[in-house]
Amino acid sequence: MTGKKTHIAENLAQIRARIAQASAAAGRAPGTVRLLAMSKTFDVETIRDAVRNGQRAFGENYLSEAVKKMDALADCGLEWHFTGPVQSNKTREIASRFDWVHGVDRDRIARRLGEQRPASLGPLNVCVQVNIDGEASKSGVAPGDAAALCEFVAAQPGLRLRGLMTIPARVAPEGDARRPYRRLRELYESLIERGLELDTLSAGMSGDFEVAIAEGATLVRIGTALFGTRPAKPVSG
Ligand SMILES: *Cc1c(COP(=O)(O)O)cnc(C)c1O
Repeated sequence: MTGKKTHIAENLAQIRARIAQASAAAGRAPGTVRLLAMSKTFDVETIRDAVRNGQRAFGENYLSEAVKKMDALADCGLEWHFTGPVQSNKTREIASRFDWVHGVDRDRIARRLGEQRPASLGPLNVCVQVNIDGEASKSGVAPGDAAALCEFVAAQPGLRLRGLMTIPARVAPEGDARRPYRRLRELYESLIERGLELDTLSAGMSGDFEVAIAEGATLVRIGTALFGTRPAKPVSG
């Protein structure tokens, strides 16, 4: 398989080039934006293809599906990010299998993840999810409650607070797509001013990652643009 050009190889090269371009256009140093490959619903062979092309960080939303992939790819030394909503009956397995969790939005979940993180693994990296547009249907803490939750996460010995994550509402074509990301960045900067140690703004997906990078995203979560259209249902779990 080595040397064979696949659509994933081409997509990865294109996405990396677009990330570099958007970073440069925003006056940001090269290498300040990480690519998280959102592999949910895609199979192990597809992930291997991305790994052969240098991708190491993968995002998953469905726990049992993710664990099967981790087991199959255990020898690859990959970094796994849980990006779905965290249910309290899943915290133990998430805390023991993942390197990062992006969907923490309440004390109770943060406490459980911290208590259940095996000490041998070192602290679990956490991004607090912010409901930046105040949508009723969406998980995430209200912007005004982010500081308190970040302080709570930072105080858990089993956790390492890294930053903020958001999934903004869909913006109409004539709307201002930068606005939610600008508000997230302003919140992030205000938390740093408060003394919290943050280094990660997890923002931007296939359709808008350049906009997110223009507003300071340090980690973009890309599925469709890399792997293609997702099947309607997860492969399992
Ligand atoms: C699936 C998913 C993405 C990727 O979305 P695409 O539009 O396919 O790039 C990003 N973030 C989260 C939390 C997701 O669940």
